Amino acid sequence: MNLDRQVGTGFSYRIEALFASFCRARAPSKGLAAWTLTVLFAYNKAMSRAAPLVDSFGRTIDYLRVSVTDRCNLRCTYCMSEHMRFVPKAELLSLDELDRVCTAFVRRGVTHLRLTGGEPLVRRDFMTLMRALSRHLASGALQELTLTTNGLRLAPLASGLAEAGIRRINVSLDSLDPAAFARITRGGELTRVLDGIAAAQEAGIRVKINTVALKNGNEQELPEMVRWAHAHDMDITLIETMPLGFIEEDRSDQFVSLAEVRRTLESRWTLTPLPDRTAGPARYVRVEETGGKLGFITPLTHNFCDSCRRVRLSCTGTLHMCLGQEISVDLRGALRASPDDQLLDAAIGQAVAAKPRAHDFLMPVRGAAPALSRHMSVTGG
Ligand code: SAM
Repeated sequence: MNLDRQVGTGFSYRIEALFASFCRARAPSKGLAAWTLTVLFAYNKAMSRAAPLVDSFGRTIDYLRVSVTDRCNLRCTYCMSEHMRFVPKAELLSLDELDRVCTAFVRRGVTHLRLTGGEPLVRRDFMTLMRALSRHLASGALQELTLTTNGLRLAPLASGLAEAGIRRINVSLDSLDPAAFARITRGGELTRVLDGIAAAQEAGIRVKINTVALKNGNEQELPEMVRWAHAHDMDITLIETMPLGFIEEDRSDQFVSLAEVRRTLESRWTLTPLPDRTAGPARYVRVEETGGKLGFITPLTHNFCDSCRRVRLSCTGTLHMCLGQEISVDLRGALRASPDDQLLDAAIGQAVAAKPRAHDFLMPVRGAAPALSRHMSVTGG
């Protein structure tokens, strides 16, 4: 790995070249401020040379999720099977390659970058990648660099994340009951997640909780989870299970419609719809009694595709244009075929043009195969 040379990949060595030629021509007469301006000028020039990504339905793609590994230190029953087969390490994109492809997207107008997995914090040298990518925050090209994590390894990394410019993260948490948490995650230790959340908040990072609603898993606990999140100054989003990948249980035994959950919550609280939409698929309400924000992600009961601005990169460099469709394009070949980014840019442009209008998840039917064979850990949640 060579992330010292991460500034030497893709767009950035063009900056170096521009910068070097400028220095040769004029540097002796320039002070520090002029040098700084020069670097910024070169950076902006390099970043603005590429056209924005617009799909064939007119949606501008400005949000990239990257699964940096398909491995995870939990085995949530709705996400993975107990005995998962993971991608051999040799097939993963290196950190340099991840940086290069993220940068290519930033150059094409991606302003939101979310690193996910698998569990992103189990990827070796994850923080090196995060720090390297944070240069796009510093330049203003990225509005947000963030991650989704199960929180198990968050406590020791929280302050480093804050230093890298991470302002908000999502932590997935499906139960506050240690026994239920261990059952859902197949062995996870709840206290470690709670410690991770506390450390992140202490470091000044806002935490949003993501909770998958599970029939016979946490359905009864959901009001308490909302109350707890709001009491700890966190927004919370509830998510319907999606039929992604083989798991041992029948998905129809796990699925609970969020329309039902919402009715239960409305019987105890006043939910006021909020107009604001983030770059994600959630619809938000304010819970008047707690004062907190509550989101609903309902891919099965209501799809959210018209406003979808996202594409997802797997840890092997496959770009998935839709979470709920098979269509994908291999970017790894383009990355490795040439050290400059022309092929990569062309492949990204072609991929985005082929983004489907909508996913076509259906309600789970008993005994049915999953809608898609890949697990969520491949494309990242
Ligand atoms: N390990 C990280 C975490 O736990 O947040 C990131 C990856 S995980 C795949 C991302 C999110 O996807 C988690 O919130 C998880 O609950 C959710 N998820 C996984 N499988 C799902 C499924 N089949 N349906 C709905 N959400 C799912």
